[in-house]
Amino acid sequence: MSDKVMVMYLGRTMEMADSKPLTTGPRHPYSQALIASVPIPDPVLERARKRPVLEGELPSPLRPPSGCVFRTRCPKAQAICTEIRPPMTDADNGHMVACHFEEKQEMLVFAR
Ligand code: SF4
Repeated sequence: MSDKVMVMYLGRTMEMADSKPLTTGPRHPYSQALIASVPIPDPVLERARKRPVLEGELPSPLRPPSGCVFRTRCPKAQAICTEIRPPMTDADNGHMVACHFEEKQEMLVFAR
């Protein structure tokens, strides 16, 4: 449907990339949780895969958290995430990510 995908949380861009690298190897923890929530239409693969689960409530967009707006629900959050808003950086050939601790996570997705 689209060549590029932008993932947003509380009105801020978390990740932006071509659709294939973003859906098969998301780098932001929020993108990873979103992609992992897509069901795989194969019961064996679906049962076998691990899913990151987001804890907590969605904060009010009127009073977003300081630093990284995703920090109250992020399993990787550290002290720096409270103080400093992560800049959008080029993690890999135009794959833009706003996270102090971004890392690629290979996702099990159903080929389309
Ligand atoms: S900057 Fe920190 S809180 Fe925000 S997504 Fe990255 S690890 Fe999580």
